[in-house]
Amino acid sequence: MVQSTVEHPADVVSRLRTTFRSGRTKPLSWRTEQLHGLRTMLTEHGQDLAAALLADLGKGEAEAFRTEIDFTVREIDHTLERLADWLRPEPVDVPERLGPDATAWTVQDPLGVVLVIAPWNYPAQLLLAPVVGALAAGNCVVAKPSELAPATSRVIADLLPRHVDSDALAVVEGAVPETTALLEQHFDHIFYTGNGTVGRIVMRAAAEHLTPVTLELGGKSPAFVDRDTDLATVAARLVSTKFLNAGQTCVAPDYVLTDPRTARELEGALEKAVQETFGSDPARTSAYGRIVNDRHFDRLTGLLGSGRVVVGGEHDRATRYLAPTVLADVAPDSPVMAEEIFGPILPIVEVEDLDEAIAFINERDKPLALYAFTQSAAVRDRLIAETSSGGVGIGLPVAHLTVSDLPFGGVGESGMGRYHGRYSLETFSHRKAVLDKPLG
Ligand code: NAD
Repeated sequence: MVQSTVEHPADVVSRLRTTFRSGRTKPLSWRTEQLHGLRTMLTEHGQDLAAALLADLGKGEAEAFRTEIDFTVREIDHTLERLADWLRPEPVDVPERLGPDATAWTVQDPLGVVLVIAPWNYPAQLLLAPVVGALAAGNCVVAKPSELAPATSRVIADLLPRHVDSDALAVVEGAVPETTALLEQHFDHIFYTGNGTVGRIVMRAAAEHLTPVTLELGGKSPAFVDRDTDLATVAARLVSTKFLNAGQTCVAPDYVLTDPRTARELEGALEKAVQETFGSDPARTSAYGRIVNDRHFDRLTGLLGSGRVVVGGEHDRATRYLAPTVLADVAPDSPVMAEEIFGPILPIVEVEDLDEAIAFINERDKPLALYAFTQSAAVRDRLIAETSSGGVGIGLPVAHLTVSDLPFGGVGESGMGRYHGRYSLETFSHRKAVLDKPLG
C-alpha cells in the first residue's frame, strides 16, 4: 500500500495521471470493482467508522450508520444497479440537411484526475459519496478529508487505499497548507463541500488551470410554517431534522418563518417535541451530538441572546454540549439571523403572511434548501415558483437529499453544480458529442 500522506501532492497527481492515461479506469468492470471495494470497506469496517464519528462529533452509532455509512452504501447500490444503463451512448436526432445516413450520439468521457475536498460535519458521507460518482465515471481521485474530524480522516486514509485501486485513488490528509498545495496542482475537476469563503479560494485556484468546480456550500435554509397546519407533526419533523448532528447539517432548517399566532402555538409544540425526542436532559442521550470545536461552540453560545429562549439554552464548554434550543421573538437583524447558524439553535421569525415570507426569503442569499409546511397546494406552488433555492422540501426537511434520483446542490451563494445518483456521473464526466457521416 502506498501511503499517500508522505508523497508530495505533485507526485500523487502524477502517479494517478499515469494510471488514468493507461486506460485502466475506463472499462465498466474496473468501475464496478472499485464500487464493490468501497462497499466492502463500509460494510466490514462500519464499526471503525462509527467509532471515529463518535470520537470526532459525539455522533451516536445509529445516526452514524443512518446518515453516513448506510447512506453511502445506498448510493453505491443505486449506482451499481444503473451504471451500465447510464453509460450507454445516447442517440440524438440529426437534421435532414446532413443526409439520411448521418447519425449522432453522446458518450460520457471520464475527466481524468479529480479532487474531492470534504468538510467535518458528515466527514465520511461527504467525502465518500462524491468519490462514488468520481469512480463510477472512470476517474482517478484524490480525496481530502477534513482535518476537523481527525479520527474519521485517519480511518478513511487507512482503509480506502486498501479497498480500491490505490494507484487510482489517494487520500491526502491535512489542513490548510496541505489543501493549498493540492490546489496548486492541475486537476480535471474539483468537488468542494464546505463554506463559501474557502469555496472562493478553491474557485480562484481552479481558474489557474481552467478546472471546472462543483461547490457544495451552505446558507440559511428557511422553513415556512403556514397557518392551520398540524403543529405537533410540524414540530416533530423540525426537531428531528434541525437537531440531527447537533444542528451541524448543511440542509438543516436554519430558521422558521411564520405568522405571530402560529408562532405562539408552535413554541409549545416545539418544546414538547424536543422533550419527546431527547428527554428532559438531552445531555444524557447518546442520540444527541456535540459541537465540533471550541471556536464553533463559542460562536453558537454567542447567538443565544438573539431571542427569548423557549426551550434549551443550557450549555457546557468542557464537553461542547449545547442543548437543542428554540428562540422566539427573533428580530430579522439579530446576530442569529446574520449568518448560517450551523448548530442546534432554531429561531422563529415572524412575518404577517406568505407574501412577506416570500419577500423575506428573496431579499437574502439563495438558500441550499427551502422548507414549507402547508396543507395548501397554492401556497406550495407559490413558494416553489417565486423563490430560488438548491432544493425544496414540502412537509419534511432534509429528506430530499436521500432520494438518489434527485440532484443535490446549491444555487448562488449556496453553491454550483449537483450530484447524487446519475447527477454524480454527469458531474464527473464530459458529455462528448459525436457525429458520424459515412463516406461515399
Ligand atoms: P471545514 O472547515 O472542514 O472545511 C472544508 C474543507 O476545506 C476541509 O477539507 C478543509 O481542510 C478545507 N479548507 C479549509 N480552509 C481552507 C483554505 N484556506 N484553503 C483550502 N482549503 C481549506 O468545513 P466547513 O467549511 O466549516 O463546513 C461547514 C460549511 O459547509 C457550512 O457552511 C455548511 O453549510 C457547508 N456544507 C455544505 C454541504 C453541502 O452539501 N452543500 C454539506 C456540508 C457542509
